[in-house]
Amino acid sequence: MVTGQIRTSLAVRQATEGARAPRRVSVLGATGSVGRSTADLLMRDRAGFAVEALTANRNAEQLAEMARALGARLAVVADDSQYAALKAALSGSGIEAAAGEAAVIEAAMRPSDIVLAAIVGAAGLESTLAAVRRGATVALANKEILVCAGAIVMAEVRRHGATLLPVDSEHCAIFQVFDFDQAERVSRILLTASGGPFRTMDRWAMAKVTPAQAVAHPNWSMGAKISVDSATMMNKGLEVIEAHHLFPVEEEKIEIVVHPQSVIHSMVEYVDGSVLAQLGSPDMRTPIAYALAWPERMPAPSARLDFQTLGNLTFEPPDPQRFPALRLARQALRAGGIAPTVLNAANEVAVAAFLEGEVGFLDIARIVEESLNVLGSEPLATLDQVRVVDERARAVARDLARRGRVSVG
Ligand code: NAD
Ligand code: MG
Repeated sequence: MVTGQIRTSLAVRQATEGARAPRRVSVLGATGSVGRSTADLLMRDRAGFAVEALTANRNAEQLAEMARALGARLAVVADDSQYAALKAALSGSGIEAAAGEAAVIEAAMRPSDIVLAAIVGAAGLESTLAAVRRGATVALANKEILVCAGAIVMAEVRRHGATLLPVDSEHCAIFQVFDFDQAERVSRILLTASGGPFRTMDRWAMAKVTPAQAVAHPNWSMGAKISVDSATMMNKGLEVIEAHHLFPVEEEKIEIVVHPQSVIHSMVEYVDGSVLAQLGSPDMRTPIAYALAWPERMPAPSARLDFQTLGNLTFEPPDPQRFPALRLARQALRAGGIAPTVLNAANEVAVAAFLEGEVGFLDIARIVEESLNVLGSEPLATLDQVRVVDERARAVARDLARRGRVSVG
């Protein structure tokens, strides 16, 4: 269980880290929204952290600039064709340049204390596993890897004595108030959801929304994929699956509460009726700072909550009729086996197709549902199987997306 790992590694860290040397950090997906928030924190504490490796998909210019600013040892672009651009942008800096998927995995294997896993989608699975397998502390933003291969990732965490720290704001909140020593005394996890930009919109109107509207989240500034996931509420579905793997609580005890202000980041209810919550402004630098400094705390520049002017905090139930992704994610989690892998892969393809203007907003959940129906359920045991199922689901979803949009809700 992740609990044991966390406690054990806490004891080890306390025993071995008497004097505080800078923590060595690698950031996978450094040029993204979470990656840039992480870089901002690292820039503010140059004495506390040393940067080992930074990776990006293909933006060599931006990556080189970050690597220079942070004094990284290694910078890696996943896209081979960007190697020359990266090499040129780093010339004279003494920073090593590399390219290709294997090089991203090697970056994760470099000897850093903490690996911030912030690649988006199942593309981050192999590199995150590489960090897990050397027993690193992995600060995990990349929730999709717990959806597509949750049981396998968690088994590897236990086997290699790695430490997994959630960066997703809800899971970071739960982690902060979850009593791992009395997990059986937890009666509910209350996962809060903003409801996204279409919280009050009817399905007829949703059928016509544009990618620009979908990525304009009311509270959080995030990458395009997770912004669309928030708009369909698939993000919350993925987070139920993520919570199921991170915390020893059954699926039925993980409840979603829509809380449009995004001030309470999640709550844990105990058998005596106590509800513990973590609050803060909606700024990812708070949960990222928590993971970077754990088990200590470090300053983060996030806006402070002003309770004199905060006004009302409101709560409402989620609506699975208007947001079918919520139902699909729970269904996949209950079905188990390959279903969550299919859910994730089909969703990645459907979101990309929506962002490209190939399908409508409501088609996203439809494509995911049809992919789940086509691929059925079977047990999932190995990483090779994850790769095969992921590919198969992508092919099915792409085929469904190619047939175009279904315009009406
Ligand atoms: P993003 O799209 O802004 O950034 C993704 C990063 O991954 C970029 O650096 C990109 O270059 C890299 N990348 C993309 N595809 C890649 C590939 N095939 N190989 C290697 N690198 C690749 O995404 P984000 O919003 O920063 O989200 C990152 C992860 O964190 C996602 O899993 C998301 O669900 C999770 N998360 C994000 C937020 C947020 O506020 N943005 C909050 C909670 C969780
Ligand atoms: Mg979240």
